[in-house]
Amino acid sequence: MSGGQDAFSQTYAQARGKFLAAAAAAGLRVEAKPHPLPGLEGEPLAMDVARDGDPGAPTLLVVSSACHGVEGFCGSGVQVAALRDAAWRARAAERGVAVLYIHGLNPYGFSHIRRTTHENVDLNRNFHDFAAPLPVNADYRELHRLLVPERWPPDEANAQAIAQYIARHGEKAYQAAISRGQYEFPDGLFYGGNAPAWSNRTLREVLATHGRRAGRIAWIDIHTGLGPSGVGERIYAGRDDPQATARAQKWWGGEGRTPVTSIYDGSSSSALLTGLMWTSVYEECPQAEYTGMALEYGTVPVLQVFQALRGEQWLNAHPEAPPALAREIRGRMLEAFYTDTDAWRGQVLEQAREALFQAVDGLTS
Ligand SMILES: [Zn+2]
Repeated sequence: MSGGQDAFSQTYAQARGKFLAAAAAAGLRVEAKPHPLPGLEGEPLAMDVARDGDPGAPTLLVVSSACHGVEGFCGSGVQVAALRDAAWRARAAERGVAVLYIHGLNPYGFSHIRRTTHENVDLNRNFHDFAAPLPVNADYRELHRLLVPERWPPDEANAQAIAQYIARHGEKAYQAAISRGQYEFPDGLFYGGNAPAWSNRTLREVLATHGRRAGRIAWIDIHTGLGPSGVGERIYAGRDDPQATARAQKWWGGEGRTPVTSIYDGSSSSALLTGLMWTSVYEECPQAEYTGMALEYGTVPVLQVFQALRGEQWLNAHPEAPPALAREIRGRMLEAFYTDTDAWRGQVLEQAREALFQAVDGLTS
C-alpha cells in the first residue's frame, strides 16, 4: 500500500471508478446502493459495498469511508490501495477474516464537497432514537447566527464577535460547542437531523446483510480534519465499555504505539459526542462482540477547518453564489479535509495498513 499514490482521486466519480475497478480486479462483486440524487457533476451516486471473504466467516472487519462526505477523498484512497494489496488480502484470507469495504457512506457529501448528507445531516450525529428527547446544545444556539452569517466572506463585526467568543471561552470550548452536534437548526452546522438519514438507513441494511453471521466484528471508519497533519489518531469508537476499550487499546494502541484515545476520558481530539454511527452495529448485529475505532487524520488547524465549514454552509444556503466564490469555498473545503501531497498520502496509507493488519490479528487472537 506504500506505493499507492495513484489510489487517490480528485473527484467522487474518479474515486468510485477506481474502487469499482480495484474490486473487479480482486474478483469481488460490488453491491451498489443507489442514492436518490445526482452528484455535483450530474454523475450517479451510490454507497458501494464489496465483501472480500466468506459470507459465513466468523470474523468480519468493516472498513468504511466518507461518513463525512468530503473526508472520503482520504478513505477512498485507503480502500482502493487495500483492494490492490495482495499481501494484505492474503493475510485476511489466511486468518479467515472477511473484509467488508464500504465506499461512500455519504456519497452525496463526497461528490458535492460537503461534510454533511443531502439532508444537511452530520451522519455521525444522526444515530439517535428520534422518538426520545434529543440532546440540547445551548452553546451552539448562542453561536448559530454568527457561524452562518447572511454574507460570505463574513464582515469585520462577525469576525470580531467570533474572535471574542474564542478569547472568552477558549478554542476547545468553541470546537466543542460547534462539533458536539445540534438538533435545533436544520440549516446549521453539525446538525444531527430529526429522522434517520438515507445513509443511516442504507448502512443499517448493509450491516444487517453482512454482519449477522459473525461472532466478532471490528470496524475501522476513516475520517479527516482533526489533529496534527498526517497523524492518524486512533479514536475508540464504541460504547463506554471498559472491556471493549481495553480490547481496542490492545489491538491498536499496544506497545510502542500512541495509545488509542477516547471521547469518554477527554483524551481524543474529538469532543464528547452522541448519535454516533457505531450505534448501528450494536443494533443491527447484536450477536457480535464489537471493537471499533475512527482513524482520524489531521489536515490543517481546526479553526481553518471550521472556517471552511462555515463558508460551505453559507454556500449551501446560497446556490445563487457567483461561480468563482463557489469554487473558492469548495477549494477551501477540500483543503480542510484532504492534503494533496505525496507525503501526506504516504503517511495515510502507512498508518492505515498497519491498523488493518492489527485488526486482523486482534479479531483472530
Ligand atoms: Zn469525520
